[in-house]
Amino acid sequence: MNTYSRQPVTFVKGDGVWLYDDKGDKYLDALAGVAVNGLGHAHPKLVKAISEQAGKLIHVSNIYNIAEQEALADKLCEISGMDKVFFCNSGCEANEASIKLARLYGHNKGIVNPEIIVMDKSFHGRTMATLSATGNRKVQAGFEPLVSGFVRVPYDDIEAVKQVASRNSNVVAVLVEPVQGEGGINIPKDASGYLETLREICDAHGWLLMLDEVQTGIARTGTWFAFQHTTIKPDVMSLAKGLGSGVPIGACVASGKAAEVFTYGKHGSTFGGNPLATAAGLATLNIIEEERLRENAEKIGNLIREGFTADFIDTKGVVVVRNAGMMIGIELDRPCGDLVSIALAEKLLINVTADKVVRLLPPLVMNESEANELVKRLSVIIKAFLNS
Ligand SMILES: *Cc1c(COP(=O)(O)O)cnc(C)c1O
Repeated sequence: MNTYSRQPVTFVKGDGVWLYDDKGDKYLDALAGVAVNGLGHAHPKLVKAISEQAGKLIHVSNIYNIAEQEALADKLCEISGMDKVFFCNSGCEANEASIKLARLYGHNKGIVNPEIIVMDKSFHGRTMATLSATGNRKVQAGFEPLVSGFVRVPYDDIEAVKQVASRNSNVVAVLVEPVQGEGGINIPKDASGYLETLREICDAHGWLLMLDEVQTGIARTGTWFAFQHTTIKPDVMSLAKGLGSGVPIGACVASGKAAEVFTYGKHGSTFGGNPLATAAGLATLNIIEEERLRENAEKIGNLIREGFTADFIDTKGVVVVRNAGMMIGIELDRPCGDLVSIALAEKLLINVTADKVVRLLPPLVMNESEANELVKRLSVIIKAFLNS
Protein backbone atom coordinates (compact mmCIF):
# COMPACT_ATOMS: atom_id res chain seq x y z
CA MET A 1 0.00 0.00 0.00
CA ASN A 2 1.07 3.58 -0.49
CA THR A 3 2.10 4.22 3.10
CA TYR A 4 5.62 5.40 2.25
CA SER A 5 6.95 8.07 -0.05
CA ARG A 6 10.13 6.26 -1.06
CA GLN A 7 13.48 7.59 -2.17
CA PRO A 8 14.34 6.37 -5.70
CA VAL A 9 17.08 3.91 -4.79
CA THR A 10 17.37 0.17 -4.26
CA PHE A 11 20.16 -1.16 -2.12
CA VAL A 12 21.49 -4.62 -2.82
CA LYS A 13 24.29 -5.05 -0.30
CA GLY A 14 26.04 -3.38 2.57
CA ASP A 15 29.33 -3.42 4.44
CA GLY A 16 29.70 -1.57 7.75
CA VAL A 17 28.52 2.02 7.32
CA TRP A 18 28.40 1.66 3.51
CA LEU A 19 25.49 0.63 1.29
CA TYR A 20 25.61 -0.28 -2.41
CA ASP A 21 22.74 0.22 -4.86
CA ASP A 22 21.80 -1.89 -7.88
CA LYS A 23 23.95 0.33 -10.11
CA GLY A 24 27.03 -0.27 -7.97
CA ASP A 25 27.03 3.21 -6.40
CA LYS A 26 28.29 3.46 -2.82
CA TYR A 27 26.49 5.45 -0.08
CA LEU A 28 27.50 6.55 3.40
CA ASP A 29 24.74 5.44 5.79
CA ALA A 30 24.13 7.99 8.56
CA LEU A 31 20.66 6.66 9.39
CA ALA A 32 21.20 2.94 10.02
CA GLY A 33 17.69 1.96 8.98
CA VAL A 34 16.39 4.49 11.54
CA ALA A 35 18.51 3.42 14.52
CA VAL A 36 18.21 -0.29 13.72
CA ASN A 37 21.53 -1.31 12.15
CA GLY A 38 23.76 -0.43 15.07
CA LEU A 39 26.33 -3.00 13.96
CA GLY A 40 26.33 -1.57 10.45
CA HIS A 41 25.54 -3.81 7.51
CA ALA A 42 26.57 -7.44 7.14
CA HIS A 43 28.54 -7.62 10.39
CA PRO A 44 30.31 -11.01 10.05
CA LYS A 45 29.67 -12.13 13.65
CA LEU A 46 25.98 -11.26 13.41
CA VAL A 47 25.62 -12.96 10.03
CA LYS A 48 27.24 -16.07 11.49
CA ALA A 49 24.99 -16.11 14.57
CA ILE A 50 21.81 -15.68 12.52
CA SER A 51 22.86 -18.24 9.90
CA GLU A 52 23.74 -20.82 12.53
CA GLN A 53 20.48 -20.27 14.37
CA ALA A 54 18.43 -20.49 11.15
CA GLY A 55 20.06 -23.84 10.50
CA LYS A 56 18.87 -25.13 13.88
CA LEU A 57 15.50 -23.56 14.70
CA ILE A 58 13.69 -20.40 13.59
CA HIS A 59 10.40 -20.78 15.45
CA VAL A 60 8.79 -23.21 17.85
CA SER A 61 6.07 -21.22 19.76
CA ASN A 62 5.99 -19.90 23.29
CA ILE A 63 4.12 -23.04 24.25
CA TYR A 64 7.64 -24.45 24.81
CA ASN A 65 10.81 -23.33 26.53
CA ILE A 66 13.13 -21.36 24.24
CA ALA A 67 16.77 -21.39 25.32
CA GLU A 68 17.81 -18.39 23.18
CA GLN A 69 14.92 -16.32 24.58
CA GLU A 70 15.91 -17.17 28.15
CA ALA A 71 19.53 -16.24 27.42
CA LEU A 72 18.53 -12.86 25.92
CA ALA A 73 16.15 -12.15 28.81
CA ASP A 74 18.93 -12.91 31.30
CA LYS A 75 21.32 -10.65 29.42
CA LEU A 76 18.81 -7.77 29.22
CA CYS A 77 18.12 -8.07 32.95
CA GLU A 78 21.84 -8.18 33.71
CA ILE A 79 22.67 -5.02 31.73
CA SER A 80 19.56 -3.08 32.84
CA GLY A 81 19.35 -4.19 36.46
CA MET A 82 15.71 -5.03 35.80
CA ASP A 83 13.84 -8.28 36.47
CA LYS A 84 11.62 -9.67 33.70
CA VAL A 85 11.09 -9.42 29.95
CA PHE A 86 8.16 -9.90 27.58
CA PHE A 87 9.24 -10.34 23.96
CA CYS A 88 7.32 -9.07 20.95
CA ASN A 89 8.28 -7.97 17.45
CA SER A 90 8.41 -4.18 17.23
CA GLY A 91 8.50 -0.92 19.12
CA CYS A 92 4.78 -0.26 19.04
CA GLU A 93 4.14 -3.75 20.36
CA ALA A 94 6.61 -3.18 23.18
CA ASN A 95 4.70 -0.01 24.08
CA GLU A 96 1.38 -1.82 23.76
CA ALA A 97 2.70 -4.26 26.35
CA SER A 98 3.75 -1.36 28.60
CA ILE A 99 0.33 0.28 28.26
CA LYS A 100 -1.53 -2.99 28.99
CA LEU A 101 0.77 -3.61 31.94
CA ALA A 102 0.06 -0.14 33.37
CA ARG A 103 -3.69 -0.56 32.97
CA LEU A 104 -3.66 -3.96 34.63
CA TYR A 105 -1.50 -2.54 37.42
CA GLY A 106 -4.19 0.12 37.91
CA HIS A 107 -7.08 -2.36 37.86
CA ASN A 108 -5.25 -4.50 40.41
CA LYS A 109 -5.23 -1.40 42.66
CA GLY A 110 -8.96 -0.88 42.13
CA ILE A 111 -8.65 1.96 39.60
CA VAL A 112 -11.28 1.13 36.96
CA ASN A 113 -10.37 3.92 34.52
CA PRO A 114 -6.59 4.03 34.67
CA GLU A 115 -4.85 6.88 32.85
CA ILE A 116 -1.27 7.27 31.63
CA ILE A 117 0.58 10.59 31.40
CA VAL A 118 2.16 11.07 27.95
CA MET A 119 4.09 13.93 26.36
CA ASP A 120 3.70 16.47 23.59
CA LYS A 121 5.85 15.68 20.53
CA SER A 122 6.28 12.08 21.65
CA PHE A 123 6.27 9.10 19.31
CA HIS A 124 5.25 5.65 20.49
CA GLY A 125 4.12 3.85 17.34
CA ARG A 126 1.27 3.38 14.89
CA THR A 127 -1.09 0.88 16.51
CA MET A 128 -4.32 2.34 17.89
CA ALA A 129 -3.16 2.59 21.50
CA THR A 130 0.34 3.80 20.65
CA LEU A 131 -0.79 6.40 18.11
CA SER A 132 -3.23 7.64 20.75
CA ALA A 133 -0.30 7.96 23.16
CA THR A 134 1.78 9.72 20.49
CA GLY A 135 1.94 13.53 20.72
CA ASN A 136 1.64 14.29 17.01
CA ARG A 137 -1.69 15.07 15.37
CA LYS A 138 -0.40 13.97 11.97
CA VAL A 139 -0.03 10.43 13.28
CA GLN A 140 -3.56 10.45 14.72
CA ALA A 141 -5.58 12.33 12.10
CA GLY A 142 -8.15 10.15 10.38
CA PHE A 143 -7.95 7.34 12.90
CA GLU A 144 -10.39 8.67 15.48
CA PRO A 145 -11.90 7.55 17.76
CA LEU A 146 -8.61 7.38 19.61
CA VAL A 147 -7.97 5.08 22.54
CA SER A 148 -8.84 6.91 25.76
CA GLY A 149 -6.89 6.89 29.00
CA PHE A 150 -4.01 9.24 28.13
CA VAL A 151 -3.33 12.62 29.75
CA ARG A 152 -0.97 14.83 27.76
CA VAL A 153 1.54 17.31 29.18
CA PRO A 154 4.40 19.27 27.59
CA TYR A 155 7.75 17.46 27.40
CA ASP A 156 10.42 18.52 29.90
CA ASP A 157 7.82 20.20 32.12
CA ILE A 158 7.81 18.84 35.66
CA GLU A 159 5.27 21.42 36.88
CA ALA A 160 2.70 20.14 34.39
CA VAL A 161 3.13 16.59 35.72
CA LYS A 162 2.75 17.82 39.30
CA GLN A 163 -0.46 19.60 38.37
CA VAL A 164 -1.93 16.42 36.92
CA ALA A 165 -0.87 14.61 40.09
CA SER A 166 -2.72 17.12 42.25
CA ARG A 167 -6.07 16.72 40.51
CA ASN A 168 -6.18 13.30 38.85
CA SER A 169 -6.38 10.16 41.00
CA ASN A 170 -6.78 7.83 38.00
CA VAL A 171 -3.17 8.18 36.87
CA VAL A 172 -1.20 4.91 37.06
CA ALA A 173 1.91 5.64 35.02
CA VAL A 174 4.08 8.09 33.09
CA LEU A 175 5.25 7.06 29.62
CA VAL A 176 8.19 9.10 28.33
CA GLU A 177 11.15 8.99 25.93
CA PRO A 178 14.44 9.96 27.67
CA VAL A 179 15.30 11.78 24.42
CA GLN A 180 12.55 12.35 21.86
CA GLY A 181 13.64 10.87 18.54
CA GLU A 182 10.88 11.47 15.98
CA GLY A 183 9.98 14.67 17.86
CA GLY A 184 13.30 16.24 16.78
CA ILE A 185 16.12 14.86 18.98
CA ASN A 186 14.66 16.77 21.94
CA ILE A 187 16.91 16.49 24.98
CA PRO A 188 15.49 17.76 28.29
CA LYS A 189 17.35 20.85 29.58
CA ASP A 190 18.52 18.87 32.60
CA ALA A 191 18.22 15.40 31.10
CA SER A 192 19.07 13.40 34.21
CA GLY A 193 17.26 15.78 36.57
CA TYR A 194 14.09 15.41 34.51
CA LEU A 195 14.01 11.62 34.80
CA GLU A 196 15.09 11.71 38.43
CA THR A 197 12.28 14.10 39.35
CA LEU A 198 9.76 12.05 37.38
CA ARG A 199 10.98 9.03 39.36
CA GLU A 200 10.30 10.87 42.64
CA ILE A 201 6.81 11.93 41.55
CA CYS A 202 5.99 8.38 40.42
CA ASP A 203 7.19 6.95 43.74
CA ALA A 204 5.23 9.51 45.73
CA HIS A 205 1.98 8.59 43.92
CA GLY A 206 2.47 4.88 43.32
CA TRP A 207 2.74 5.39 39.54
CA LEU A 208 4.90 3.34 37.20
CA LEU A 209 7.72 5.15 35.41
CA MET A 210 7.71 3.72 31.90
CA LEU A 211 10.52 4.67 29.51
CA ASP A 212 10.14 4.29 25.78
CA GLU A 213 13.75 3.41 24.93
CA VAL A 214 12.87 2.00 21.52
CA GLN A 215 15.17 4.54 19.87
CA THR A 216 17.47 5.55 22.75
CA GLY A 217 18.20 2.00 23.92
CA ILE A 218 20.86 -0.54 22.89
CA ALA A 219 23.89 1.76 23.22
CA ARG A 220 22.53 4.53 20.98
CA THR A 221 23.25 7.28 23.53
CA GLY A 222 26.55 5.80 24.78
CA THR A 223 25.13 3.63 27.57
CA TRP A 224 23.08 0.43 27.15
CA PHE A 225 19.97 2.45 27.98
CA ALA A 226 19.55 6.22 28.22
CA PHE A 227 18.34 6.01 31.83
CA GLN A 228 21.85 4.83 32.74
CA HIS A 229 23.05 8.42 32.40
CA THR A 230 20.98 9.03 35.56
CA THR A 231 20.73 7.53 39.04
CA ILE A 232 17.25 6.08 38.49
CA LYS A 233 15.78 2.83 37.19
CA PRO A 234 12.41 2.69 35.43
CA ASP A 235 9.63 0.26 36.35
CA VAL A 236 9.01 -0.53 32.71
CA MET A 237 11.13 -0.02 29.58
CA SER A 238 10.25 -0.70 25.96
CA LEU A 239 12.93 -1.71 23.45
CA ALA A 240 13.03 -2.60 19.78
CA LYS A 241 14.89 -0.87 16.91
CA GLY A 242 18.57 -1.69 17.58
CA LEU A 243 17.91 -4.84 19.61
CA GLY A 244 17.87 -7.34 16.74
CA SER A 245 20.08 -5.42 14.28
CA GLY A 246 17.27 -5.69 11.73
CA VAL A 247 15.72 -9.01 12.69
CA PRO A 248 12.33 -7.84 14.05
CA ILE A 249 12.19 -7.98 17.83
CA GLY A 250 10.73 -5.87 20.62
CA ALA A 251 10.89 -6.19 24.37
CA CYS A 252 9.00 -4.87 27.35
CA VAL A 253 11.34 -5.04 30.34
CA ALA A 254 10.02 -4.58 33.88
CA SER A 255 11.40 -4.40 37.39
CA GLY A 256 10.09 -4.88 40.94
CA LYS A 257 6.33 -4.90 41.37
CA ALA A 258 5.81 -4.10 37.67
CA ALA A 259 7.53 -7.34 36.73
CA GLU A 260 4.81 -9.33 38.55
CA VAL A 261 1.78 -7.66 36.93
CA PHE A 262 1.39 -9.91 33.88
CA THR A 263 0.25 -13.40 34.83
CA TYR A 264 -0.70 -16.41 32.69
CA GLY A 265 -2.88 -15.51 29.75
CA LYS A 266 -2.73 -11.73 30.16
CA HIS A 267 -0.57 -11.10 27.09
CA GLY A 268 1.03 -13.05 24.28
CA SER A 269 2.63 -13.07 20.84
CA THR A 270 2.99 -15.84 18.28
CA PHE A 271 6.38 -14.74 16.97
CA GLY A 272 7.58 -12.86 20.05
CA GLY A 273 10.89 -14.14 21.40
CA ASN A 274 11.40 -16.78 18.74
CA PRO A 275 14.80 -18.49 18.53
CA LEU A 276 15.98 -16.57 15.46
CA ALA A 277 15.08 -13.09 16.72
CA THR A 278 16.44 -13.70 20.20
CA ALA A 279 19.67 -15.20 18.84
CA ALA A 280 20.06 -12.01 16.79
CA GLY A 281 19.40 -9.95 19.92
CA LEU A 282 21.91 -11.86 21.98
CA ALA A 283 24.55 -11.63 19.27
CA THR A 284 23.90 -7.89 18.98
CA LEU A 285 24.44 -7.30 22.70
CA ASN A 286 27.56 -9.48 22.79
CA ILE A 287 29.09 -7.72 19.80
CA ILE A 288 28.34 -4.28 21.30
CA GLU A 289 30.20 -5.41 24.41
CA GLU A 290 33.15 -7.07 22.62
CA GLU A 291 33.72 -4.16 20.26
CA ARG A 292 33.14 -1.47 22.92
CA LEU A 293 30.42 0.18 20.86
CA ARG A 294 28.88 2.06 23.79
CA GLU A 295 32.17 3.89 24.22
CA ASN A 296 32.36 4.38 20.47
CA ALA A 297 28.82 5.79 20.28
CA GLU A 298 29.66 8.38 22.89
CA LYS A 299 33.01 9.31 21.36
CA ILE A 300 31.95 9.42 17.72
CA GLY A 301 28.60 11.06 18.50
CA ASN A 302 30.37 13.90 20.28
CA LEU A 303 32.96 14.14 17.53
CA ILE A 304 30.20 14.54 14.93
CA ARG A 305 28.44 17.21 17.01
CA GLU A 306 31.70 19.11 17.53
CA GLY A 307 32.50 18.86 13.82
CA PHE A 308 29.16 20.36 12.77
CA THR A 309 29.25 22.99 15.51
CA ALA A 310 32.64 24.18 14.23
CA ASP A 311 31.56 24.08 10.57
CA PHE A 312 28.36 26.04 11.25
CA ILE A 313 29.82 28.62 13.59
CA ASP A 314 29.17 31.43 11.08
CA THR A 315 26.27 29.80 9.26
CA LYS A 316 23.00 31.69 9.54
CA GLY A 317 20.09 29.30 9.40
CA VAL A 318 21.55 26.65 11.68
CA VAL A 319 19.80 27.09 15.03
CA VAL A 320 21.66 24.48 17.04
CA VAL A 321 23.47 21.15 16.81
CA ARG A 322 22.69 18.71 19.63
CA ASN A 323 23.38 15.06 20.40
CA ALA A 324 22.91 12.31 22.90
CA GLY A 325 25.64 9.91 21.81
CA MET A 326 24.78 8.83 18.28
CA MET A 327 21.40 10.57 18.21
CA ILE A 328 22.36 13.78 16.46
CA GLY A 329 20.05 16.65 15.51
CA ILE A 330 20.89 19.71 13.43
CA GLU A 331 18.04 22.17 13.84
CA LEU A 332 17.57 24.67 11.03
CA ASP A 333 15.42 27.81 10.99
CA ARG A 334 13.30 26.51 8.12
CA PRO A 335 11.65 23.33 6.82
CA CYS A 336 14.33 21.15 5.26
CA GLY A 337 12.70 17.90 4.16
CA ASP A 338 14.25 18.38 0.70
CA LEU A 339 17.68 17.74 2.21
CA VAL A 340 16.96 14.00 2.24
CA SER A 341 16.89 13.70 -1.56
CA ILE A 342 19.64 16.29 -2.02
CA ALA A 343 21.90 14.24 0.26
CA LEU A 344 20.89 11.02 -1.46
CA ALA A 345 22.08 12.47 -4.77
CA GLU A 346 25.40 13.09 -2.99
CA LYS A 347 25.43 9.43 -1.86
CA LEU A 348 24.65 10.19 1.76
CA LEU A 349 21.71 8.79 3.77
CA ILE A 350 20.16 11.13 6.34
CA ASN A 351 16.72 11.88 7.74
CA VAL A 352 14.69 14.98 8.53
CA THR A 353 12.17 14.97 11.37
CA ALA A 354 9.92 17.54 13.03
CA ASP A 355 10.11 19.51 9.77
CA LYS A 356 13.29 21.45 10.58
CA VAL A 357 15.64 18.95 12.21
CA VAL A 358 18.23 16.96 10.28
CA ARG A 359 18.42 13.70 12.19
CA LEU A 360 21.45 11.44 12.10
CA LEU A 361 21.44 7.96 13.64
CA PRO A 362 24.66 6.45 12.31
CA PRO A 363 25.65 2.83 12.86
CA LEU A 364 27.37 2.47 16.24
CA VAL A 365 30.40 1.00 14.45
CA MET A 366 31.20 4.23 12.60
CA ASN A 367 34.89 5.12 12.97
CA GLU A 368 36.59 8.48 13.16
CA SER A 369 37.47 8.85 9.50
CA GLU A 370 33.94 7.87 8.45
CA ALA A 371 32.54 10.41 10.93
CA ASN A 372 34.80 13.12 9.48
CA GLU A 373 33.64 12.17 6.00
CA LEU A 374 30.01 12.46 7.14
CA VAL A 375 30.54 15.91 8.65
CA LYS A 376 32.47 17.12 5.61
CA ARG A 377 29.88 15.95 3.08
CA LEU A 378 26.81 17.06 5.00
CA SER A 379 28.15 20.50 5.99
CA VAL A 380 28.62 21.38 2.33
CA ILE A 381 25.11 20.17 1.51
CA ILE A 382 23.44 22.08 4.34
CA LYS A 383 25.34 25.30 3.58
CA ALA A 384 24.39 25.10 -0.10
CA PHE A 385 20.76 24.45 0.88
CA LEU A 386 20.67 27.45 3.22
CA ASN A 387 22.18 29.70 0.53
CA SER A 388 19.82 28.62 -2.23
C1 LIG B 1 10.35 3.80 16.21
C2 LIG B 1 9.76 4.07 17.53
C3 LIG B 1 8.59 3.39 17.96
C4 LIG B 1 7.82 2.46 17.07
O1 LIG B 1 8.54 1.32 16.72
P1 LIG B 1 8.00 0.35 15.57
O2 LIG B 1 8.94 -0.79 15.60
O3 LIG B 1 8.01 1.12 14.29
O4 LIG B 1 6.61 -0.02 15.95
C5 LIG B 1 8.15 3.64 19.24
N1 LIG B 1 8.78 4.50 20.06
C6 LIG B 1 9.89 5.16 19.67
C7 LIG B 1 10.57 6.08 20.64
C8 LIG B 1 10.42 4.98 18.40
O5 LIG B 1 11.49 5.65 18.02
